[in-house]
Amino acid sequence: MRLTFIAYLLFMTISPNPQKILQTVFGYDSFRHNQQEIVEHVLAGNDSVVLMPTGGGKSLCYQVPALCLPGVTIVVSPLIALMKDQVDALKVNGIEAAFLNSTQSPAEQSFIFKQLQANRLKLLYLAPERLMGNETQFLGFLKQIQVSLFAVDEAHCISQWGHDFRPEYLILGQLKESFPGIPLIALTATADDLTKQDIIHKLHFTEYKVFENSFNRPNIYYYVKPKSNYYDELVSYLKQHKDDSGIIYCLSRAATERLAEDLKSDGFNAEAYHAGIEKNLKDERQDKFLRDDIKIMIATIAFGMGINKSNVRFVVHVDLPKNIEGYYQETGRAGRDGLHSEAILFYGAGDVMKLKKFAEVEGNAAQTKIMLQKLDKMSRFCETKTCRRKFLLNYFGEDAEDYCGSCDTCLNKPVLKDCTVIAQKFLSTVARVNERFGVRYIVDILKGSNNEKIKEEHKKLSVYGIGKDASKEEWIHYAKELIYYDYLALSDGEYPVAKLTEKSRAVLYQKQKVYLSAPVHVEIAKEPEIYQQHTYEKELFESLKQLRNRFAREENVPSYIIFSDSTLLDLATYLPLNTNDLLKISGFGAYKAEKYGNSFLETVQDYCSENNLQTRIELRQPKRERKQKTSSANERASDTKRLSFKMHKEGKTIAQIAEERNLSLNTIETHLSYYISQGELEIEDFVLPHKQQVIKKAAELFGPESLRILKDNLPEEITYGEIRMMLAAMNKIA
Ligand code: ADP
Ligand code: ZN
Repeated sequence: MRLTFIAYLLFMTISPNPQKILQTVFGYDSFRHNQQEIVEHVLAGNDSVVLMPTGGGKSLCYQVPALCLPGVTIVVSPLIALMKDQVDALKVNGIEAAFLNSTQSPAEQSFIFKQLQANRLKLLYLAPERLMGNETQFLGFLKQIQVSLFAVDEAHCISQWGHDFRPEYLILGQLKESFPGIPLIALTATADDLTKQDIIHKLHFTEYKVFENSFNRPNIYYYVKPKSNYYDELVSYLKQHKDDSGIIYCLSRAATERLAEDLKSDGFNAEAYHAGIEKNLKDERQDKFLRDDIKIMIATIAFGMGINKSNVRFVVHVDLPKNIEGYYQETGRAGRDGLHSEAILFYGAGDVMKLKKFAEVEGNAAQTKIMLQKLDKMSRFCETKTCRRKFLLNYFGEDAEDYCGSCDTCLNKPVLKDCTVIAQKFLSTVARVNERFGVRYIVDILKGSNNEKIKEEHKKLSVYGIGKDASKEEWIHYAKELIYYDYLALSDGEYPVAKLTEKSRAVLYQKQKVYLSAPVHVEIAKEPEIYQQHTYEKELFESLKQLRNRFAREENVPSYIIFSDSTLLDLATYLPLNTNDLLKISGFGAYKAEKYGNSFLETVQDYCSENNLQTRIELRQPKRERKQKTSSANERASDTKRLSFKMHKEGKTIAQIAEERNLSLNTIETHLSYYISQGELEIEDFVLPHKQQVIKKAAELFGPESLRILKDNLPEEITYGEIRMMLAAMNKIA
């Protein structure tokens, strides 16, 4: 009762202005992406389709309007678990919200009906079948009360083109006819065009606006690592992330069970989750995971759809996902709170073979072909030597820069070394078997393998066994490198055969030198860096977490519903010492401040007096949120780029910026290149005219894709940075 009453008072005292509601009720400084535009569009009574990546902040797009509008907002959502979570999160902000579903008793349900009749609820969550099903009387009921807005969450479920079609969503097509004057907002994190068009069509939208956002998740770092011996690597990673929550995805139920057993016996707090586990146990494990009582969930893809947990710090795939869509969705469950998170995939070519068999859709050749193409893209993602983020974004039809600085390929630009002898050995073997065998066969000959598949005559070749000094994996690596640099080609067909190329003949007959990257062992960053402008008090952060978890246990909700890690991090950084300053912390709305404020303040105050610290609240500026696509280049750029740009504008040289920021020259050049490509900096300020000419010429000759090839073919004194900047200038958007 106390809860509703305070919320009611709060609601009466603030005028329903979106900005104010954002600040007072939710405790956030500013809208993110294009939330504000969307909210205004909804409040003007219009229909909208919102495409925003996971963690982007879709919920606020209808929750803020819901609080501005006089009646109730009906939110259609596919999963019961998700509903409860959302309603809990609203309630801790003092908002009257409820859900209706089959798990409730008749008494509970009739209480909610009464609340609706009395216009006491701001938001009501339900499943689509509840809205329409056989109980059409529910629609009749809704017509008698004041409904202000319909929100359809996970709207891609309405489309057969999406990856998660739910037939019961089709009935939502009736909404526009049944409630012609009431705005409808459809939200999804699925980006592709076909699904988008289908949503519009199936919801019977006529006048509407589509709001799109970049699907980039800058706080997620992407790594792909070799699968052989992954277990040890995984264990050492988990040891370094003991306090973090994470999800590990496996392909099969049995594999999740096995891995869970292994990790448990190695002392980790891990459990398995898959569709074959009995419902109660499954719910219990999910709940414990949400409450941080289970740290690591080892799951099949059955897990995650309803998971709103914001502090998932890592997502590991120990098996290859079937397609990029799935991979992106699963990795997207990391870092909803915007803090540094990692996506790690252990890749082995064996997985591709295994999945190829699964891709077969019986009696449907066309569908099989699509599945195989998607799988092929997935393995290409793993094998790419270019930026993984760019690969992903391009896949979803979005442009991206060549260098993100936060994926393994960007972080480990390979150093080329002279591999002429290695190349000669490999290529001459290909020649000696008359270009009629695959890469693995060649490697077997090089290794002098006794494999019975090796023909007797090949065992007599002079190349048999000349490659014993390198491991099989290393030879496979070099073969890939040779293919990558066009020293070797593969024939089409089911069993690709290694073929020589123009370039390989030059190596074999003219002794041309070959430079390849050595097999690298990619290190994953030791400790996740937390991207904060200012340093934070680690010990305090931990105490605040404990305090939060205590409240969560008392109220029987997941801890992130009380406060996200990023709110606690803000507290541990800016050290507010009074209520006024507390309200400046992101995530502290008026209601939460009143309810929990004193406890958190006390913890901060105690810590500060023990450690002789002052408040740092004056350092805190309203967070700059990522902006939508149409903003200016500077607003769109990441903070780190922006800072380099700013320093350049202050008259600093690249070297000075690099030194002050403790970053490489290369990084600063990449930052500034971005502004050149956006037309906000001039190439003349960085590269002399005669150099511009030759770089341009080389790019025309060799193509602009590989910096390394250009560098190799340009005079020594031209640096990578100059090439990069010139390419940016050539790419300048008009
Ligand atoms: P989505 O549904 O798009 O996956 P959510 O709506 O769950 O994302 O939002 C993700 C997180 O970001 C939540 O913790 C939410 O409170 C937070 N958030 C959303 N909008 C803002 C904002 N404007 N400022 C600060 N935090 C926000
Ligand atoms: Zn990258």
